[in-house]
Formats: sequence, C-alpha cells, structure tokens
Amino acid sequence: MARYRGSVCRLCRREGVKLFLKGERCFTDKCAVERRKFAPGQHGQRRGSKTLGYGLQLREKQKVKRIYGLLEKQFHNYFVRAERSKGITGDNLLIGLERRLDNIVYRLGFATSRNQARQIVRHGHVMVNKRKVNIPSYATRPGDEVSIHEKSRKNPLIQYSVESVSGRGGVPQWLELNREGFTGKVLALPRREELDPNIQEKLIVELYSK
Ligand code: SF4
Repeated sequence: MARYRGSVCRLCRREGVKLFLKGERCFTDKCAVERRKFAPGQHGQRRGSKTLGYGLQLREKQKVKRIYGLLEKQFHNYFVRAERSKGITGDNLLIGLERRLDNIVYRLGFATSRNQARQIVRHGHVMVNKRKVNIPSYATRPGDEVSIHEKSRKNPLIQYSVESVSGRGGVPQWLELNREGFTGKVLALPRREELDPNIQEKLIVELYSK
C-alpha cells in the first residue's frame, strides 16, 4: 500500500501543530515545530494565519489524515463508512481510525509512532487473538487481544518502546496493557471524549459533504 515517504516534520510544520509522527523526538526540544514555528517552503514565513471557510476545513482534514498516516483515498473510505454507519458521522470517523491495528499497537506502546507501528505489523511481529495479522488497517473489536509475537519480544525497539510508554502519555483507558506479557486488550471502542479534543471533525464532515 502506498504511503507518504517525505519528511514528516514538514507535515507538522505545515499544519502548525505537533502531530507526533516521529516517536521519541517529538517529546524533545529537537522537535521541528518548536524550533521553526512557521510553514515549510520558500514562502512559509509569509503564509498568513487567517485561514477561513474551505481552507480551515481542508487543513483539518489534512491534519487528521496525516496523524493516522493515510493517503486521500484511504481516508475518504473511512469517511464513507462513517457516514453509512449509525450515529454521528464525525465520531464514527475518529473511532474507525482509532480501531486500526497500527493505531492500537501505537496506543498500547509497542511502537513510538504510528509509522513504526505500521512497520511492526507489516513485518509480522503482531498477533490478534493469538493469530498473526500483518494488515495495518485491520479493524479491531472490543475484546480483541493484541500481542507481540513471542519471537519478537526481544526486539530492542519494541522493548524500549514498551518501557517508555508512560513518558509518551501512557495507555488510554479503553485499552489495557500487560507490559511484562507484551499483550494488550481492547476493552471497548473509545468514546469521543476520550479522543483528541483538538480535532474538529465537524469541519471534515462539512468538507466532504459539499
Ligand atoms: Fe512533528 Fe514530531 Fe517532527 Fe515535532 S518531532 S515536527 S511533533 S514529527
């Protein structure tokens, strides 16, 4: 599956906020958003902060798409599914994104970023309900057990990541982590109030509903 291969810090600078795409570095003063508080490119410093209407909706969509590391078509498919499901479209969209296996691996702390989580899944280090699953977009359900394959538990990247999870904000309440067993559980689907309050999903719904 295609993915963005350019500089991820550039994406944060374009959105003007930290999207936490690079793992540990995002929590240090080496973060590019902290050091250069303007958009990238030749005219980055001249770019105005007065974004309104369509521009605002577009930026919000780009931001969320980049947080989860998706390309336009993949992201739009999540929106279509969210729209068809019962309930509030914006909430369904965010919950659909959170259910992705690569996101769960990241949230449980087995990886320091969603990019790394995607790679861990792709390389077959992750099991769901004791069966190997190497599809990053796999939609988890409440009750699913997500674990690291026994042979991969000595992987220093995974070990370091699990040990340092509390420094990155810890594990959310809707998940449960057994650190020693390299196992996690999806206790429930997240509620909107448990997700990032800075995301304005309403703007994304408005954008796609035009
Ligand atoms: Fe974004 Fe992390 Fe790079 Fe900072 S270090 S700009 S948060 S990816």
